[in-house]
Amino acid sequence: MLYYRHISKDNISIGEKAMADKRVIIIGNGPAGISAALYTSRAGIPTTIIGKDLGSLNKAEKIENYYGLTEPVSGKELALIGINQAKRVGAEYIEAQTVGLSFDGENFGVQTSEGEYFAKCVIIATGSQRSAPKIKGLTGFEGKGVSYCATCDGFFYRKKDVAVLGFTEYALHEADELSHIASSVTVITNGETETTAFPDHYKVIRTKIASFEGDEKLETVRFTDGTEIKCDGVFVAYGVAGSVDFARKLGAETENNKIVVNDEMSSSIPGLFAAGDCTGGMMQVAKAVYEGARAGTSAVKFIRSK
Ligand SMILES: Cc1cc2nc3c(=O)[nH]c(=O)nc-3n(C[C@H](O)[C@H](O)[C@H](O)COP(=O)(O)OP(=O)(O)OC[C@H]3O[C@@H](n4cnc5c(N)ncnc54)[C@H](O)[C@@H]3O)c2cc1C
Repeated sequence: MLYYRHISKDNISIGEKAMADKRVIIIGNGPAGISAALYTSRAGIPTTIIGKDLGSLNKAEKIENYYGLTEPVSGKELALIGINQAKRVGAEYIEAQTVGLSFDGENFGVQTSEGEYFAKCVIIATGSQRSAPKIKGLTGFEGKGVSYCATCDGFFYRKKDVAVLGFTEYALHEADELSHIASSVTVITNGETETTAFPDHYKVIRTKIASFEGDEKLETVRFTDGTEIKCDGVFVAYGVAGSVDFARKLGAETENNKIVVNDEMSSSIPGLFAAGDCTGGMMQVAKAVYEGARAGTSAVKFIRSK
């Protein structure tokens, strides 16, 4: 089966690029993402699903209120049935953490822990989780030194000292983006153990954070052991990148930490769709499955129109 996996854009051959032009990538393997994949794959559109674990369903002990169940099933069982169903109809399934999303005017690039993938169309279906630790001062300095997107705001910190709050591949990705712009990048893990190796050129501080402080703007990160660092900006990349992080990277409209979509599940960026918990409203499997189906059919229409 054809699919595309690239470590760098330079590796795209002409044939592969042609396939990227017809491909849809679905970020998220829950009910919304899988439902979308059923519609795109069965319509003959090359489909890649990228998912990192079983998401919300893994936490649901029993699901009883979804159509067609002869008896309650565990969330995990339902999630695995869905993933196998998508594979059966031909979708490519990649287990990886997505850390970034970009658009070069022609194709979307999806950066993951396993490499970079390209497609004409992307459906975000990563659920609603948003990882930001509750630390004194963090939300108060949002837009005044605290940012959630290196691609969007990194430019404002050129030749300045910044920190990345995080400990995963996502934090590394953001640090790498900032390292080309800022004069120094410090990684602050807030006491968490790193899940990836940060290269030596990043100073890593593993102490828990007590507070973010400053006057009008963020100036200081204070740690629980009494030490502090001065910095002009902190980029939050805590845990795994969520739906809003991806939308923000491309400038898609968001509201109250949800992606804004129209009836066709299209975001404000042509070719970028969203479905499921990440669009807000009723957070239930039935709604995620409907929106996934709608996003899938819209993606098919979009790709065929190109
Ligand atoms: C405890 C609990 C009980 C529930 N009980 C019910 C119930 O009884 N009935 C009901 O209808 N609903 C129930 N729900 C809600 C239901 O689980 C969600 O509404 C539904 O799963 C949403 O589907 P989704 O596809 O939008 O998101 P999710 O199911 O959250 O799937 C998102 C997927 O995206 C993946 N992902 C996220 N970020 C990334 C990334 N950066 N890279 C790669 N992959 C990523 C995740 O691993 C996950 O698998 C329950 C939820 C919980 C937490």
